[in-house]
Amino acid sequence: MGALQNDLTKLSSATRAFLDREGGLFIGNSYRPAAGRGTIPVIDPSSGSQISTLAAGGEEDVAFAVAAAKEALHGSWQATPAGERERLLWRWADILEANADYLAELDSVDVGMPLWMARHLNVQGAIGVVRYMAGWATKISGRTVDVNVPIPGSEYIGYTLREPVGIIGAIIPWNVPAMLAAWKISPALAAGCTVVIKPSEVASLSVLVMADLAREAGIPAGVINVLTGTGAGVGDALVSHPDVSKITFTGSTATGVHIAKRAAEGVKKVTLELGGKSPQLLFADADLDKAVPGIAGSIFLHSGQICVAGSRLYVQRTIFDETVTRLKEWADGLVIGPGLDAQTQVGPLASEAQQKKVEGYIESAKAEGGETVTESSPLDASGYYVRPTVVANAKQSMKAAREEIFGPVLTVIAFDEFDEVINYANDTDYGLSASVWTRDLATAHRAAARIKSGKVVVNSEPLPYPSLPEGGRKASGYGRDLGPESLEGYLETKSVIIRTV
Ligand code: NAD
Repeated sequence: MGALQNDLTKLSSATRAFLDREGGLFIGNSYRPAAGRGTIPVIDPSSGSQISTLAAGGEEDVAFAVAAAKEALHGSWQATPAGERERLLWRWADILEANADYLAELDSVDVGMPLWMARHLNVQGAIGVVRYMAGWATKISGRTVDVNVPIPGSEYIGYTLREPVGIIGAIIPWNVPAMLAAWKISPALAAGCTVVIKPSEVASLSVLVMADLAREAGIPAGVINVLTGTGAGVGDALVSHPDVSKITFTGSTATGVHIAKRAAEGVKKVTLELGGKSPQLLFADADLDKAVPGIAGSIFLHSGQICVAGSRLYVQRTIFDETVTRLKEWADGLVIGPGLDAQTQVGPLASEAQQKKVEGYIESAKAEGGETVTESSPLDASGYYVRPTVVANAKQSMKAAREEIFGPVLTVIAFDEFDEVINYANDTDYGLSASVWTRDLATAHRAAARIKSGKVVVNSEPLPYPSLPEGGRKASGYGRDLGPESLEGYLETKSVIIRTV
């Protein structure tokens, strides 16, 4: 046993009680054991020790949850007017807010994220999105259309109706569970859909509690169902279930491709929010006092386990050495520790598998000639820690500069000209996000227009906003979460044509 472990005696009584409960699936507004009675251990990544248990769902549970979602879709939820859906979503948001510390503690101990991040980005982010989407419930509308049919003397009225897509199968990863659950559930509910959500087997606790709090808010049984379990156990059966109309997936590109193929067999709608390898472009005119902490925050926040993490840094050559020196100092000064410690800035990775994967990328970067300039002495820890790592003198061809690492590793490459750095930025399979650091407005606008990604952020970390869509191009996926664009993914359009004369 090493140091850097969570002090679990600090946990609130609510969290303690939830960790100690019998693990169950949340179907039809109540907890029930998985049909196969299988379980999955919940591991505290700061120690590697088991702290709780999840129910491992299977095909039978998927059928049961989808049946509950179907009954609600055609019953209680269909009978709930849009204004009432809005009110229920607002009430859910208020109850989530009242339980924000509890939810944050669950996600912190489940995935290792620092408590302040769990509370103020992850859970607060979830609440903000639920409130934003609540307002949309009453603003969904179709169009009236001038219909001219060449039948003499005839007259027509044409209009479109917007209808819920149906039952949504939502599948999310482990990195920010509460926030991503809200990104999927709240637009679906605003649109009138019902949801079966499968959180990651690595982190499901907060999503179960969120669904139970929705029950408390008055959201009818079957509208939100949570199936814990593995991709093979629950995910595949959910994607293949004939009554599920749409799959909204966030996760790795490999899993997304697998899901899209399966969903195609059932001609289901699919939204894919996949991986990224997002560039950060640092121009020589940038304010380095602000850029260095911002660049570091963009990659080291949550130990790099953020889909939009800025993992490739391109620095204009005249400020290259100074930037690397400053980044090294900043990275080495970050406080590494367990999520529950108030001082912690960088927590452990969420799982041992993720730790080993990230360590493998650091080794590969070294083997390909990269120089790790940051502190690399081993940490005295049994948990899944990886030190923030800056690889200077990286090359564009390196594995670590091309593949998504999903860890606290930043590759740094020098550039001279604007066109050169735009080519570097776009020379990737992915297209999720990008950051530009400059004081020159023209450079900012030109870069924003030329980078091929779902979003570009200038002089800031890539934080999400409920009203701005998030999503990718190329191997980063298709469709959008957040914003009105997200709502579109949960709505069908029906054309109605009426002959009046
Ligand atoms: P993952 O693809 O391994 O798993 C994601 C989810 O898919 C999990 O719930 C998993 O159980 C499930 N799954 C696995 N196999 C499945 C199958 N055959 N059928 C159905 N579901 C299956 O991803 P992860 O390791 O949990 O998360 C990390 C990845 O998520 C990274 O690539 C990251 O970039 C991506 N991510 C993307 C965004 C975004 O908005 N674009 C946000 C967060 C994370």
